[in-house]
Amino acid sequence: MTRPQNITILGSTGTIGVNTLDVIARHPQRYRAYALTAHSRTAPLLEQCRRFKPAYAVVGDEDAAETLAKQLKNEHSETQVLCGAEALEKVVALPEVDAVMAAIVGAAGLRPALAAARAGKRVLLANKETLVMSGKLFMDAVRQNGATLLPIDSEHNAIFQVMPRDIGRGLEHAGVSRILLTASGGPFRTCAADELARVTPAQALNHPNWVMGPKITIDSATLMNKGLEVIEAHWLFDAAPEQIEVVIHPQSVIHSMVEYIDGSVLAQLGNPDMRTPIAYALAWPERIPSGVGSLDLFRIARLDFEAPDTQRFPCLRLAFEALRRGGTAPAILNAANEIAVQAFLGNRIGFTDIPRLIEATLSATTVTEAANLEELVAVDRAARRVAENWVEAKAA
Ligand code: NAD
Ligand code: MG
Repeated sequence: MTRPQNITILGSTGTIGVNTLDVIARHPQRYRAYALTAHSRTAPLLEQCRRFKPAYAVVGDEDAAETLAKQLKNEHSETQVLCGAEALEKVVALPEVDAVMAAIVGAAGLRPALAAARAGKRVLLANKETLVMSGKLFMDAVRQNGATLLPIDSEHNAIFQVMPRDIGRGLEHAGVSRILLTASGGPFRTCAADELARVTPAQALNHPNWVMGPKITIDSATLMNKGLEVIEAHWLFDAAPEQIEVVIHPQSVIHSMVEYIDGSVLAQLGNPDMRTPIAYALAWPERIPSGVGSLDLFRIARLDFEAPDTQRFPCLRLAFEALRRGGTAPAILNAANEIAVQAFLGNRIGFTDIPRLIEATLSATTVTEAANLEELVAVDRAARRVAENWVEAKAA
């Protein structure tokens, strides 16, 4: 091998970012953390810069950048510190960058992920909101610029692993009948409907199987995470809503499945540890050690399955409806959900208000066809305003 591959990690201080650095650190001959980015937490970014010596570090605002740059300069570091959203787009598109891990949370991750696709990079996509907001735009950018798209979301990574390599002529042509998207069911899987109204952010943040950032953890509790993943699967695998079935599987051992027309169902199994999909996407089509332990089936002993309950968890229904409606409906759903999650975490609305707020925002907003990124960003902003007004009216 020649030089190590240069990897830009968008959101290096987050859960996915830290796991990516863990895998990279196991393969120093193969990968170099070339650019690292964080929004506001410069302390962990400083530590990462000391350890991985990236060429670039990017932070959200100027003050934070100045502080970080001073600290690094005092230590004679050669890392160049940049700031702001344009800098994110710069460090994904540099000619020497081979792959980009898109692991910023929420709509903020859209522009840099799109920039990576437009630069024709190998894009490791964790930020599912990108596909929910702008599936068509993003997939077109991937195709038109010869980018390679590898899903990091554990379910989609699992599907990618068991899907035939060439689905270019459609799923039917490849002999695929269904995608079975597994879901843990979250911390409230067995909670009665009336109890759900009273659950607290602390309870919702306590996910049974996965350690993740706060936004996706709340999404997992409402099942919106699965809803966003249905939309994500639609774009990644060109699957119609009817071809995607959600299966509650509380053990999170099967990460998803693909059913073929001959009745075969192929699944990918493993311990719930994001380093497996990260290592798979980094090395694809090869495989490398990830640090994840061997699966102990005797300890797990059983695998359970149940149908999702969209009465108690309406977010899943809302996401399917938004996908069927098409146009900007998924982007509106996503924007309203981001506001709802923030408001719930800030104790401004209750847990069961989350789907109410999203449904209200969708019915108060006109669904259109956004032709470009600027229009999409405008739709996102407008939906956020509607959602925020709902929160304020509720609090008043
Ligand atoms: P996290 O909250 O732990 O980390 C988010 C990262 O994004 C941080 O590095 C933060 O600095 C950065 N960030 C936040 N807001 C930003 C902004 N406005 N501008 C620039 N950077 C910003 O989140 P996470 O759990 O690592 O999730 C990241 C993404 O990956 C999400 O889209 C999530 O849905 C997806 N994902 C996560 C997991 C998981 O296991 N954590 C699994 C599947 C998919
Ligand atoms: Mg997932």
